[in-house]
Amino acid sequence: MEKYNPWEIEIKWQKKWEENKLYEAKYDKEKKKFYVLEMFPYTSAQIHMGHVRNYTIGDVIARYKVMNGYNILHPIGYDAFGLPAENAAIKQNVHPKDWTYTNINTIRKQLKRLGISYCWEREVITCDPEYYRWNQFFFIQFFKKGMVYKKKAPANWCPSCQTVLANEQVIDGKCWRCGEIVENRNLEQWFIKITDYAERLLDFSGIKNWPERVIIMQKNWIGKSEGCEISFYIPEIKETLKVFTTRADTLFGVTYLVLSPYHPFIEKIIKISPDREKIEEFINRVKKASLTVQDILKIEKEGVYTGIYGVHPITEEKIPIWIGNYVLMEYGTGAVMAVPAHDQRDFEFSRKYNLPIKIVIKNPEWKEIPEKLEKSYEEPGIMVNSGIFNGLDSEKGKEEIRIYLEKINKGKKAIYYKLKDWCISRQRYWGTPIPIIYCKKCGIVPEKEENLPVELPYEVKITGKGQSPLKYISEFLKCKCPVCGEEAERETDTMDTFVDSSWYFLRYASGDIKNKPFDKNEVNYWMPVDQYIGGIEHAILHLLYSRFFVKALKDMGYLNFEEPFENLLCQGMVIKDGAKMSKSKGNVVDPEDIIKKYGVDTLRLFILFAAPPEVDLEWSEKGIEGCWRFLNRIWRLHKEIKNYSIDVGKNDIELKIMINRTIKGVTEDIEKEFQFNTAIAKMMEFINFLNKEVAEKKVSKIVLLNSWKKFIKLLYPFVPHICEEIWEDLDEKNFLFNEKWPSWETIEEIKEKINIGVQINGKIRGNIEISPDFDVEDIFKIVCNNEKFKKFIEGKKIIKKIYVPDRLINIVVEN
Ligand SMILES: [Zn+2]
Ligand SMILES: [Zn+2]
Repeated sequence: MEKYNPWEIEIKWQKKWEENKLYEAKYDKEKKKFYVLEMFPYTSAQIHMGHVRNYTIGDVIARYKVMNGYNILHPIGYDAFGLPAENAAIKQNVHPKDWTYTNINTIRKQLKRLGISYCWEREVITCDPEYYRWNQFFFIQFFKKGMVYKKKAPANWCPSCQTVLANEQVIDGKCWRCGEIVENRNLEQWFIKITDYAERLLDFSGIKNWPERVIIMQKNWIGKSEGCEISFYIPEIKETLKVFTTRADTLFGVTYLVLSPYHPFIEKIIKISPDREKIEEFINRVKKASLTVQDILKIEKEGVYTGIYGVHPITEEKIPIWIGNYVLMEYGTGAVMAVPAHDQRDFEFSRKYNLPIKIVIKNPEWKEIPEKLEKSYEEPGIMVNSGIFNGLDSEKGKEEIRIYLEKINKGKKAIYYKLKDWCISRQRYWGTPIPIIYCKKCGIVPEKEENLPVELPYEVKITGKGQSPLKYISEFLKCKCPVCGEEAERETDTMDTFVDSSWYFLRYASGDIKNKPFDKNEVNYWMPVDQYIGGIEHAILHLLYSRFFVKALKDMGYLNFEEPFENLLCQGMVIKDGAKMSKSKGNVVDPEDIIKKYGVDTLRLFILFAAPPEVDLEWSEKGIEGCWRFLNRIWRLHKEIKNYSIDVGKNDIELKIMINRTIKGVTEDIEKEFQFNTAIAKMMEFINFLNKEVAEKKVSKIVLLNSWKKFIKLLYPFVPHICEEIWEDLDEKNFLFNEKWPSWETIEEIKEKINIGVQINGKIRGNIEISPDFDVEDIFKIVCNNEKFKKFIEGKKIIKKIYVPDRLINIVVEN
């Protein structure tokens, strides 16, 4: 008996699938579609186990859905711009483009070896000018609509990456990519107005099934708060300071005001302040430090008194104005009213600088108002020391004070978001050039659309230091103004690579991409993505940006849907010895090594069987070996089934019940949030059963083959290569990809065995029991083997066999 040889089988079928363009997506408006997508790989490294897991999950879904009658789109591409290419260029002295395309070729080969059902015809490479041309095109559309703008603002600067980062890319005060502590620099940057979409991004009603934690993370990031904007007049500089608060009920407890070091009033304040030098020293010191939200929460709160005061809008008391390192210009109004009695942060600050603490909300549990507080009281309560508002419930007080302020024109209802505009400028080479031209006469003008793409020049010197390398390439820098034709200069910043990944799924969904970013009709057919699969680390960055992009493109008339991804699955990590696989920990298992040892099907089966998709998967060599043995058993069993020759079996019904139960179980497990591990367990159970039945020869060949074919279909999405080989060996002509997913019958339906009459030359000689899927030849065999009828037939020439379905068989013999 020939042995299971996965390497030969896998290469053979991968070749056939590719030759037959089996997975090529076909736009067909008449068919119900299913778009399954895995987050595309970044081109910095080879495929690792995390990728294998992500793509295998997607592959099972794609194969399963196509067998269930869906028209499938399952594309792949490469996220190819970004810093790693430049860092490699510096380290290895290779051009970023060459390095990237070498990696793409390796990754493509690896993906093909994994046997994933990708539509290779729609491959997307984001560093291809034909792709990034449309980043530039969209940028210009945004520019025309006033949705991108340039401003000088404090920016997150990574000293290691030598570039600016978006707020979303600063995690715990550190660079999302390299982990370096982020600094703050005041720079001219390009921004996309994602804040215009804050409210719509908070609306998740267009999404079907996303992990709750991703939704919560996005909501927290957008950070909506509803409150009141309150005015404090500053007589000495003749300005009105606006502060935002969600606790207008504590207005009578304000004992000082705090400005961000970046507040526009500071310049004026410094001019008249008696402590000018002290203030300047403080501000310079603060501005050097980082200013991310996470940092602000952790840093030691410091401040400096300005010597100036604001006027309380209701009591008209003089409220001292401070400057504090913990107030962000980017959030709210860049100024806060401090209520130390009812805000712990203000409480700590006031203790440090000996500022008054005034209780205005009484804890209902207090018998009387305490002389001193040990910490702030932040809960609701009864208003005290608040003039005409005394005795009010604080929740009601919020409203009442706001209404009063509105009446005297010193406040209004306001909504603030934590979300800030998306900074997309990067001072690096390997990205999409921002298609903007600076003309002395015309100012800032976009490149003409017919001149796109603004191509990245190939000849470049990358040092990784300071300014964009594009600044030093005069052929790139010098250009003609698209408006007046005079000498002008190009913008040298490139775009954040997250722009590239914000719409790549639309490019995939388009067969025809000649001279357009995507085909509107086809995109409206395939989109939204029915099932998106990727890591939780993209919860805010990529997933938020993509949602924004789709909404913005919809508003510009390019799309007719609001959300890009209907269902989202965040797969767990692959861990070994309790830690995520990483080079630094030395616990990496290379998929190529496993494939060399066991083949792809074994690797796939292990990854799918070891844990449910969303749970972390612990690597286990033992588990791999178990899967290898299982596939070998399938192989041997198949050979036994091929040689099996029992016509009538006692346990046919049991086998039928078992296969139907397995079909039902596997189908339900897949439908129920892709519980592949339990689905595989059910198939293993079936194999245990079948092995025994075959060994003991208790089932008939017809029922056995029938069940076996159904089983191979069930197993196919998980381990497609071995199944395809077995299928062919069963004399089947179709690819399994084009076969229908089996349906199941209930026990009652199975048990309805049919009892038919047996006539020999028109005369009833008795009855037999048959299975409904037997044909006339099957029934004839059973009749011949039955002692009761043998004597009428044996040795005689058979003239005719007539089967009246569900009724009788008539055998005409020569007398
Ligand atoms: Zn960095
Ligand atoms: Zn001009």
